[in-house]
Amino acid sequence: MAYVAMAQTKPLPRIAIAGIAIESSTFSPALTDEAAFHASYGADIFSLYPFFSADSPLRHRAIWIPTIDGHALPGGAVTREAYESLVNKSLDSLKKNGPLHGLFYDIHGAMSVVGLEDPEGDFIVRIRKVIGKGTIISTSMDLHGNVSLRLAENTDLITDYRMAPHEDAMQTKQRAVENLIERIESGKGKPAYKAWIPIPILLPGEKTSTRIEPAKSVFKAVAPAASQPGIIDAGIWVGYPWADEPRNHAVVMVTGDDKEKVAHTAEQLARSFWDARFGYAFVALTRTWDECLDSALTSHKHPFFISDMGDNPTAGGAGDVTWTLTKILSRPEFKSPNGPSLIYASIPGPELVNSAIKAGVGGHVDGQAGAKVDARYAPPVPIAGTVESIVYGDKDAEVEVAVRVGSAHVIVTRKRKPYHKEIDFTRLGLVPRKTDIVVVKIGYLEPELYAMRADWIMALTPGGVDQDIEHLTYKRIERPMFPFDKAMRDPDLSARMVSSSDQIH
Ligand SMILES: [Zn+2]
Repeated sequence: MAYVAMAQTKPLPRIAIAGIAIESSTFSPALTDEAAFHASYGADIFSLYPFFSADSPLRHRAIWIPTIDGHALPGGAVTREAYESLVNKSLDSLKKNGPLHGLFYDIHGAMSVVGLEDPEGDFIVRIRKVIGKGTIISTSMDLHGNVSLRLAENTDLITDYRMAPHEDAMQTKQRAVENLIERIESGKGKPAYKAWIPIPILLPGEKTSTRIEPAKSVFKAVAPAASQPGIIDAGIWVGYPWADEPRNHAVVMVTGDDKEKVAHTAEQLARSFWDARFGYAFVALTRTWDECLDSALTSHKHPFFISDMGDNPTAGGAGDVTWTLTKILSRPEFKSPNGPSLIYASIPGPELVNSAIKAGVGGHVDGQAGAKVDARYAPPVPIAGTVESIVYGDKDAEVEVAVRVGSAHVIVTRKRKPYHKEIDFTRLGLVPRKTDIVVVKIGYLEPELYAMRADWIMALTPGGVDQDIEHLTYKRIERPMFPFDKAMRDPDLSARMVSSSDQIH
């Protein structure tokens, strides 16, 4: 009991949790509303993070004040109404719960909002106005997010994922929280130095996967760089190519108390990211759609995966572009039930889903799907076939239906959903491991699909996240910028020490 009494002499710090996370493409006609964020409020927020479970040591090191935490599937730009509503709810909760020693700011960094520049920078400035300068903010981001100077100045600690695909997402968030608590408990407070280096490179994630070189080695250097004495954390941000603002480019940031080391480390990381620029390439073989399908049909390696990249909903595509599925269903090879087996995942089609529910498993459906949001490349696709399975309750899709059309299994959903895991297929009675060709509306394969692939090609298909970014029309990004201005001179990659949040007006 004496121990408990002693432990209570030092009051626990008060730390709030807030965040709105989405990656949203302004090259897509889709818009994102508030419901898409599936926002959690109050104590429900703890369940989003395993390290905040009731029995975790972190949970007992502070008085946590979870406010609002919303994570949307990537999509189109967020409506101004949705953004203002989520921000105002967060600010109201922070107002009621001050004063605070710390704030864990959990964002993606590539949110686009209709009519608003740099939303994550706007949000943190508005948070600062409420919580004041004394609170230490620790920001956790996706490496495909953007770090504007405004965000760099207003946050104190900052970190991001070091792996793409993001197998270290939770580890990164936990590091952001642990660094925050450590600075508060030790009394060291805000870092003495924050180095920020903008790098004039804008590339899609599919060209900078850390699974392959050169990004593999470039990002491997981040963890050792961050663990040096005098350094708190370090990160490289690839940035987001499907929005057109001055903040869309790569960035390196390093925080710490040793000025020289902070600067030197940031410069080393920035230099290595820049020097590797001509080596960044698609993570898998990339071809036109017809070339991909022809290869898959003649290959003896199965399952043969094809990424339908241009409308990848996990990068911000509308997810309902029918261009690829229309092409598949028109191919004679798949017309007969005895043709090569193929799974297409997936296309939203709420009316077709309703017809399938009415028809029941084994029944026949004849309707249309897709092209409600993005009909720029193909109209709604006719789908006539047998209902193979119906699954209810997915957070994103709500209802999923597998329809057999010839030798193809087409997954139709009420709302768009990315298919990343084996169970996403097997719960519908589909067996990707035993299927000849699996076409997924994603970019690089997520780990479970990657592990089961016998072969894999990424298809350059049209959509709101067209991977052929050199053909997109940008007006507002900084120039010169690689790869648009290949002959550009070496940029100034010296460390810029950004203002402490204490000095921001
Ligand atoms: Zn990402």
